[in-house]
Amino acid sequence: MALLEVRDLGKTFGALRALGGVDVTVRARSFHGLIGPNGSGKSTLLKAIAGAHFASEGAIAFDGADITTATPAERAKRGLSLKFQITAILPELSVYDNVLLAVQADQPLWTLLRSKSRAALHDEVLELLERFLLADLATDLAGELSHGQQQWLEIAMAMAVKPKLLLLDEPTGGMSPEERRVTGELLMPIKESCALVIVEHDLDFIKDICDHLTVLDQGQVLDDGTVAEIERSSRVQEVYTTR
Ligand code: ADP
Ligand code: MG
Repeated sequence: MALLEVRDLGKTFGALRALGGVDVTVRARSFHGLIGPNGSGKSTLLKAIAGAHFASEGAIAFDGADITTATPAERAKRGLSLKFQITAILPELSVYDNVLLAVQADQPLWTLLRSKSRAALHDEVLELLERFLLADLATDLAGELSHGQQQWLEIAMAMAVKPKLLLLDEPTGGMSPEERRVTGELLMPIKESCALVIVEHDLDFIKDICDHLTVLDQGQVLDDGTVAEIERSSRVQEVYTTR
C-alpha cells in the first residue's frame, strides 16, 4: 500500500488556481521528486501535504488515515515532517540546542522531565549531529554556520521526530556543487526508515537520488513516472525546452 495518496487535490488562493486535479502516490521508503517551472505549484503541494495550507478540493491519505482536514500538528504526529524553503533554525541558539529542541518537539513540555532521560536525549542529539556532519560544530551558534551547514542542520531537525515521510523544499538552493554532492550522500541513508518528497531545481541532483518523479506545470500534473520514463517524456521536454 502507498504511504501517501494525494487524490484530485485542488488549491485556490482567491481567484488564482494554484493546484487542480493533482494525483500523487508515494510508496514507503521511496524518494519522490517534484519538479516543474517556477510557480507551477510545487511548494503549494508540499504545504498542502503538511497541512500548512488546507486543500480546497480533493483528499490526502497518509499511512492508512485520511488527513485531508487534519491540523499540521496531527500530521506531524502521524509521521510527516517538513522543511520549508525558508529557514526555521534559531540563529541565536547553539547547533546542539537547535537539535535538542527538535528532538523534544513531539512531546508536550510538561511531560519532558518524566519521559526521556537527559542522557537519552543527549544521545539522540549527538547521533543526529554526527549523521549530518555537525558534531564538531555543536557549540557554535546556528546563525554562524555556512549556508550549506544550516540546511543540513534543518534536515537533522526535521529528522529528529523520526518521520515516515520527510518533505524538503529546495534544500540545495544556494549550495556549492560540493555541498550538493554531500547533501545527496546525507539523504540516501534516510531511505532505511523514511520516504522523501523533494522539490528541486537541480535536475541532475534529483535524478541521482529519486526513484520517481512528478512533473507539475501550471498547477497540474504534466507527467509522472520513474526517472527514466520522465527523461523520455516528450511532454516534459517540451515544457523544459520551450520556456
Ligand atoms: P513553485 O513552488 O512551483 O514555484 P508555488 O507553489 O510557490 O510554486 O506557487 C504556485 C502559485 O500559487 C504561484 O502563482 C504563486 O504566486 C501562488 N501562491 C503561492 N502561495 C500563495 C499564497 N500564500 N497566496 C497567494 N498566492 C500564492
Ligand atoms: Mg517553491
